[in-house]
Amino acid sequence: MKNQTNKSDFSEKKNNLKNIDKNQPKRRSFMKQCLAATAGVVAASTGAMATPRLISPSFEEVVKSGIKITDLKCAIMGGSAVIRIVTDAGIDGFGQAESYKPYLKPYVLFYKDYILGEDPTDVARILLKIRRMGSFKPWGAAVSAIEFALWDLAGKAAGVPVYKLLGGKIRDHVRCYNGAIRVQRNGTEPKDYIEWGQNFRKLEQGFTIVKQAVGFHGHYDSSVPNFTYNNTTPSASPKGRGRRGPLTEQGLNVIVERVAAMKEGLGDGIGLALDCGPGMLLSDAIRLANVLEPFNLMWCEDMLTGDYTPYVMADDYVELTRSTTTPIHTGEQLYLRENCRELIEKHAVRILGPDPADVGGIAELKWIAEYADLHSIQIAPHGIFNGLIGLAAQVQVGAAMPENYIAFEYPAPTQKWWYEIIEGLPDPIVKGGLVAVSDNPGLGVEFIVEEAKQYLAEEDKNFFD
Ligand SMILES: [Mg+2]
Repeated sequence: MKNQTNKSDFSEKKNNLKNIDKNQPKRRSFMKQCLAATAGVVAASTGAMATPRLISPSFEEVVKSGIKITDLKCAIMGGSAVIRIVTDAGIDGFGQAESYKPYLKPYVLFYKDYILGEDPTDVARILLKIRRMGSFKPWGAAVSAIEFALWDLAGKAAGVPVYKLLGGKIRDHVRCYNGAIRVQRNGTEPKDYIEWGQNFRKLEQGFTIVKQAVGFHGHYDSSVPNFTYNNTTPSASPKGRGRRGPLTEQGLNVIVERVAAMKEGLGDGIGLALDCGPGMLLSDAIRLANVLEPFNLMWCEDMLTGDYTPYVMADDYVELTRSTTTPIHTGEQLYLRENCRELIEKHAVRILGPDPADVGGIAELKWIAEYADLHSIQIAPHGIFNGLIGLAAQVQVGAAMPENYIAFEYPAPTQKWWYEIIEGLPDPIVKGGLVAVSDNPGLGVEFIVEEAKQYLAEEDKNFFD
């Protein structure tokens, strides 16, 4: 391996970039090209001290002649909005929003006029233009997915993985927690929860943290008779979710009984987190968090606000957090660092959980994590429905997170065929509860275009062209 690159090499690779046929499924060949460029950088960095610093050919191309965005596309694949940003350099970047949100497509395309002609490697400048028009979940998803695609492009242009552009790697393996891969439970008696915990320990992924719904989350409330004194009011969502109100003593006791059984099954080798709402009133949240203290939970999430509430009640969270040793967590609905400021500065929670696909992207999440670390607040990002591109993004930013990082929420894709159309992830993806950090350029994953095309709707059939 040579440790110096001469000018003719640069010119040759520059021409190769320009000559890529846009009608060909070119991502695999480009991946190889980027890897070759990266190898040049690595060779230089490991060479003798006198070796001059080398810049990869593609990066020189970007700096000298610029690179321009020529198109922003959005296709709905399996119910998930997938974003493709196309450039005049023959490279493209991909992002993905949460599944089950096909309605996001026009919100993604709304930003097209704002980013055409921009240099995608100036991620921050483009975000300045578009971030001001997003909002709390789900209306920050379009901006966030575009941000993923911009970083993907920036990494590919420089021939480096995105974590290098986010400040570099802290860790080689990123921990994830499981809320997506379900283990069968045969009933709602304590013995069923014990058995569930025992079976969870056998999962081949070796997850070290699991999150379960209680309280008003995931129809849990409707599974318990007399759970709340407010069960006669209509729910806030057409799917029967979104209730809030005072819990009965029976309701509180059922949660405690089931948590005790889950912990008995899981043992102390697997941390248990609870997704609790939102919807609890402050007094109930304080009572529940206190009575759960003996179980050493990882956290109680979204007890008061969260999910889709477009606000945070920071002062109420302050009172809750100071009332208990159970770590209090919220944040999946947050958009932008500015909306995290009050929670962080008031120490309103012990753990923040913004979702990079909703908060404004991976650099936004990194910024929030650093600021949280300065306030002794930990980070456990949400991400259950973010798909395989979202998974790749979590791993890249997770690698660069400060030491207050716990784990991100593992997103199992909504359809198995996603594993057949995306390449670049480790095999198996999760081992011992960890995902190995990719050194591929960009986010580290690519579509296998010929396989992926079959899942495009008629109106999106030109997505990869
Ligand atoms: Mg949640």
